[in-house]
Formats: sequence, structure tokens, C-alpha cells
Amino acid sequence: MKKQLAVWMGILGMASLAIVGCDRAAEESESDVPVVVTTTTMLEDLVRELGGEDVKTLGIMPLGADPHVYQPRPGDARVVAGSDAVVMNGLLLEGWMDSLVRHAGGERPVIVAGDALDEASLLSLEGAVDPHVWFNVGMWRQVAAHVTDGLVPLVDDEAADRIRARHAAYDEVLAGLDGWVRGQMESIPSGRRVLITSHDAFGYFGRAYGIDVEAIQGLSTEQEASQRDVANIIELVRRTNAPAVFMESSVHPGLIQQVARETDAEAAGPLYSDSLGPESAGAHTYVGMIHANVRMITEALGGDYQAFEVSTNLGVPVDEPAEELLPEMEEEGA
Ligand SMILES: [Zn+2]
Repeated sequence: MKKQLAVWMGILGMASLAIVGCDRAAEESESDVPVVVTTTTMLEDLVRELGGEDVKTLGIMPLGADPHVYQPRPGDARVVAGSDAVVMNGLLLEGWMDSLVRHAGGERPVIVAGDALDEASLLSLEGAVDPHVWFNVGMWRQVAAHVTDGLVPLVDDEAADRIRARHAAYDEVLAGLDGWVRGQMESIPSGRRVLITSHDAFGYFGRAYGIDVEAIQGLSTEQEASQRDVANIIELVRRTNAPAVFMESSVHPGLIQQVARETDAEAAGPLYSDSLGPESAGAHTYVGMIHANVRMITEALGGDYQAFEVSTNLGVPVDEPAEELLPEMEEEGA
């Protein structure tokens, strides 16, 4: 079961590694497939899953970067300028992207994940909309459908059919993942279903899967937390007897470690919140990231962890065993 999952994640990760090794400027000029630029690593993975060989996916943000405070590099504007479309989260996550698109000149479609979602389904905190929609897999399915509709006009009819077929297969995986997450959270004893993190990235997760969510910082990491915020969380941990508090990969762990030191809670994690994680953790794809997080939460809070089983081969031909593809992947990553 474990092997099956690892092999499948390897397939998902392969495309990502192939891109990393390439020179971006060369990619832009050489090929006649459309170049699609993405902001977050979650969207980068999504476009790669959907677009496959039929688009060149170029992610702006490196693994582990914090999208709230990302500072565009000089080359980013050039990458956008050479692109045929941009895919971004929206919902005020990447304020820096607007000026990047403006400065790139020319005109290109901008596909905004947030546009896929009904306004009534969005959460807000202190008047600000919560951009962390990827943590509700059901909402991410809507985003995937919306991004598919945005990619199709960029390619010819045959490629469009392939993109739609990839979407159908991927949607099935996401539907399975959604149910799996729900089951994992249900396995945590109800008194322990509280997820305490550095910043408020898990609101959609909590609402979708029935777990209370509390954070030291608000929706964005832009403002620093005060010692008052930390004291409030310490009090909450003591009151609820939470067995664990969770560090996040894209946020400095100092404050959450302080909470752990001053209570009986374990400092667990890191959770991958606003970026995918490393391949070594199997968190370098969206599905892998959700899987790694849910495993960490389930185990740290005393649930009954069971690995997610993928029931589809995601379009990999049956006569081309996944194992044979793996060595190639390792070479690219070396
Ligand atoms: Zn965030």
C-alpha cells in the first residue's frame, strides 16, 4: 500500500523535476506549446497535472517561500513577459503579482483560482478574505475545473481533449482524497480535534473536516505576532489540553515552539501550509502535501492514521510500469 502511494507520487513529481533543471529563458523561446506562469507551488503543481506536456509550466515561487510576503526577483517580470497566461490564487494572497503582470507589458489571460469559488463559500477574518482555499480539497476541485477551462483556449483541439482527460482523472483522485481526509479527522477522538498553528492557514480545512482551528497570527504573516497573541494561545492550549501544536514550513517556528515549551503540548510538524514541501517528505505535489499534513495531524492528535490509496493510474499507460519511470526521475533531480 505504501509502495503504491510512493510510486504514484513519484509520477506526479517527475514533471516538476524535469522543469526545475531547465533554463527558463530557453523554455520560453524554443517551444510552441503555451507558457503558463504560476504563483504558488500548489498552483504550479495543479497546472502541471492538468497541462502535462501540452503546456510549459513555470512556477515563480520556490518551495518553502511565503506567498504573503514574497519579494519578486528581477527575473520574475521577464518570465511573466514571456508567458501566454498567468495562473494565480487571488483572494489577496499575492498582492505582488498585480504589479508584476502590469510591468510585464502585453496582454495575457490571468486565471484566478478564487474566481472559481462562490463568494458565500469564502471565509473571512477581521474583514479580510481568507485566501487559503487549497486546504478544502472540495474547493480545490472547483479550482481545478476553473483552471482547466482557462488552459483549454490556449491549445489546439487535440491538446484540449488531453487536458480535459487529465482533469477528469485528477478530479477522481481529488474526490477520493477529500473523503480520505474526512475519515482521518473523524478518527481523532473528538475532544482532541483542535489544530493550533503559527498562522491562520487552516480555516477552510477546519470547516470542511470538522476540526477546530486556532493560530497565533492571523490570515497573513505580514504582521508580527505580539506576546499577547502568544499568551492567548498558551492559555488555550492549557484549557483544551491540546496534545500538540504545529509548526509550519513557511513560517518561523519560534513562537509555536515557545507555546510548546510553556505547556505540555508537543511541537509537531512542520505542516506544509502556504507552499508544497520537499520530495523527501513526499510533499512535493498537492496531493502529497495534503497527505503529509493530514498524516501529521492525525498521528499527533491521537487519530488512527491509514495511508491514502489512489485508485486511478492518472493516465499512465498500463504497459509502461511506473517503476521504470522512477530512475529517470532520480536522474533529473540529481
Ligand atoms: Zn498563509
